[in-house]
Amino acid sequence: MANQDDQFKKVISHAKEYGYVFQSSEIYEGLSAVYDYAQNGAELKKNIREYWWKAMVQMNENIVGIDAAIFMHPTTWKASGHVDAFNDPLIDNKDSKKRYRADVLIEDYCAKIEAKIDKEVEKAEKRFGGTFDKAQFLTTNQRVVEYQEKINAILSRMAKSLEHEDLADVKALIEELEIADPLTGSRNWTDVKQFNLMFGTKLGASADNAMDLYLRPETAQGIFVNFLNVQKTSRLKIPFGIAQSGKAFRNEIVARQFIFRMREFEQMEMQFFIKPGTQAEWYEYWKETRLRWHLSLGMGAENYRFHDHEKLAHYADAAADIEFKFPFGFKELEGIHSRTDFDLSQHEKFSGKKLQYFDPEENKSYVPYVLETSIGLDRMFLAVFSNSLKDETLEDGSTRTVLALPSVLAPVKAAILPLVKKDGLPEIARQIVEDLKWDFNVVYDEKDAVGRRYRRQDANGTPFCITVDHDTLNDNTVTIRYRDTMKQERVNIEALRDLIKQEVEMRTWLMKM
Ligand code: ATP
Repeated sequence: MANQDDQFKKVISHAKEYGYVFQSSEIYEGLSAVYDYAQNGAELKKNIREYWWKAMVQMNENIVGIDAAIFMHPTTWKASGHVDAFNDPLIDNKDSKKRYRADVLIEDYCAKIEAKIDKEVEKAEKRFGGTFDKAQFLTTNQRVVEYQEKINAILSRMAKSLEHEDLADVKALIEELEIADPLTGSRNWTDVKQFNLMFGTKLGASADNAMDLYLRPETAQGIFVNFLNVQKTSRLKIPFGIAQSGKAFRNEIVARQFIFRMREFEQMEMQFFIKPGTQAEWYEYWKETRLRWHLSLGMGAENYRFHDHEKLAHYADAAADIEFKFPFGFKELEGIHSRTDFDLSQHEKFSGKKLQYFDPEENKSYVPYVLETSIGLDRMFLAVFSNSLKDETLEDGSTRTVLALPSVLAPVKAAILPLVKKDGLPEIARQIVEDLKWDFNVVYDEKDAVGRRYRRQDANGTPFCITVDHDTLNDNTVTIRYRDTMKQERVNIEALRDLIKQEVEMRTWLMKM
């Protein structure tokens, strides 16, 4: 655990030191769970958004993108169920005065049991070596089976209690499991209460006729209310999708995990409108397709897993998360939800307008079903950033810190470095910058010895360093150094553009999907 904490602290401080993420309003002591993206962070975030948009919108003939407003008519949130049901169960510790999500306390308790299972597996792997059969071990080892049964029993009881709004039982469960405040060890808990996560605000200049609004807690509703407008103007036929990325706001009860859980964050969502009855197929299709998108970034298949929901949200008939191995363990990165016709039917009911699709094949109108993919852009940022940050020991025993970002996402693609600040080398380096900047985000750096500049760019995540030296004056070649392998090659200046393009362009990466 200490190790995980250290790694996570390293991620946070690296993000600050290299201009990726800052605490919001830091000069005023910051604002809790609100963050600003700095010069490199804004580029990385934009690149992730584009990578998603390209895969979802540009590459799919039947998916279009929109950009709906953050403010929506307040009835939207009655129809969607958010006013009544967008709650988290909270519990306070009377001694420490700290507030927690009751469900998260219980889930964390289960994660600890799961860690014990992982330890048993590790031990057995060592003992049995090459003949070890993990699947068999998981189902036959008495201790592991008991651990797993315990987890299942706890989670299904919690799911049932939450579903039936039996908050007293949620508290009873916390007490029975002897769950203590993680910070102080106290077990002096209040009752569990529901807490609505939406932020309220007002529209209008005078107090009398101001209208109560909410800041949207998800982007999805902007898609649902525009469903018919988009369908009619695009003339898309079912099945088709509408995608968008944009800010969402939630007054999270506990937000202590850097950009994992923020009060203002960005989502990338896609609603796929389908014929009722076909949802099971599309659910599988989108689970698989979204996982392939993640895997195309090469961050290691072992770092992803599916988690099927036991407790389904009020709108869903099936739901799974794609979980990622963050520095603090496997956690939700993206949700795939089969939402049935819940949203469109609700909006029909509350607006009195028909939100139906005329299916020419069936020769009838119906309210389409919806398959949703929903990923947090900031969470994806954290996944990419934390997974890329590495301390390496080199062959000569020295160490380096490298931010091995997938080069397609890296904020700066290349740094152009004159070996020395004289003899015309800076001028050539500047000329290369002038030429490459049309296609890529590049920087010029002439300060310090070249070795130090390489290390600085490694830690910054820059995939290529291009060094201009005295040979360049004679043969027009430069040294290109690769961040991950530190391999160096001599190439002609004219070849640089194509070489970089081949490595960083989205086509190269998305082809791996
Ligand atoms: P959690 O269980 O972690 O609170 P959720 O199930 O409420 O998440 P959804 O409503 O399904 O999340 O939202 C879809 C995606 O939006 C999530 O998978 C996550 O990546 C992102 N997301 C949700 N809440 C936050 C937040 N507070 N900060 C950052 N990203 C978030």
